[in-house]
Amino acid sequence: MAFNDFVGHEALVRFLRRLTERRQIPHAWLFSGPARVGKRTLAINWAKVLNCQSPIVGADGIDACERCSSCRHLDPTRPSYAQTHPAVQIVDTLMAAYWEAMERSGEVDVTKLKPKLSLGINAIRTLRENLTHQTTWRYRVLIVDEAERLTEEAAAALLKMLEEPPERTLFVLVSANPWAIPPTIRSRCQPLRFRLVPSAVIATALRERGASPEAATLLARLARGRIGWALEALRNPEWQQERERVRSLFTLMANMEWWDIFRFAELCVRGMEEAEGEQETAMATQRRALEELLTNLTLCWRDVVAAVHHADDLIVNADWQPLLERVAAHYGQAFGVLQQLRTTARRLRPPLNANPQLALELLAAAMLGQRGQ
Ligand SMILES: [Zn+2]
Repeated sequence: MAFNDFVGHEALVRFLRRLTERRQIPHAWLFSGPARVGKRTLAINWAKVLNCQSPIVGADGIDACERCSSCRHLDPTRPSYAQTHPAVQIVDTLMAAYWEAMERSGEVDVTKLKPKLSLGINAIRTLRENLTHQTTWRYRVLIVDEAERLTEEAAAALLKMLEEPPERTLFVLVSANPWAIPPTIRSRCQPLRFRLVPSAVIATALRERGASPEAATLLARLARGRIGWALEALRNPEWQQERERVRSLFTLMANMEWWDIFRFAELCVRGMEEAEGEQETAMATQRRALEELLTNLTLCWRDVVAAVHHADDLIVNADWQPLLERVAAHYGQAFGVLQQLRTTARRLRPPLNANPQLALELLAAAMLGQRGQ
């Protein structure tokens, strides 16, 4: 059920339940907190409870029935473009790409759809259009995910809507970087802050959903508080492939020779340069993937530091212990590597936007300097 089965954030769920039962709900919200901890899912689940035609009131409070025609329209695991509820609209960078492709050719191959870098005026226009239709649903819920990516123009248009709130309409802005949202918008929203979900809570949730105890423990560690990542990993084993790639790149880093420098950079960007579509979107996709890769490599080296100090409970990649210890034996200078990784990530981000191949070659060259120290 929308609230009962939601993992973690008990206090926030209790709070939303109370508001829903009293039906006195502020019209603008900002759900903020780390990525993939459940902000967007809770926004959708709340919309579900708000519009459920036969809500259940159990010992814990109100919840959605999951059977009525409203509930069946809403599924938080579906991508934004596949949502079908007439009164609940989700705007995100993927939706922006969808609209753009529709405008260009009238049809969209969703398998090739890549999220855009920003949310432009089109996104807000669609929200406004939604508002012009009469609705018989109890609440209209307009969710703007990654709200920090609104362009200046789009933010101004959204602000106007927030200033003249239509009846029975809720705006839920979702963001992992709320400080990047214009203060004029932020100040009009009720803040709801999400935190990381404890590993034990994640492991229990995974076991309840059919994971073996070993898999649940490993995934809970790898999730590092991001319950959304953990649940997705359980549904879709694709993460294992990416993890194997991280492992081989990490091994290559630890054994770097000068002739590996170009190969390392090439292996890092392999597959990423094929992103199709307009250049801005292709670049955004590549940068996001690289950022994720660098984060994962950073975690490997953090694990090396933990292994050196025998702090086993801090190790994320716990199933790689023998490899980590092998690297740790030759690497007193994992701190230096961590520093290099951070510098590389910074070079790749705006405003520097360094050429990825060059930045990664520099990283690989710096690894040579770290060796054997
Ligand atoms: Zn229902």
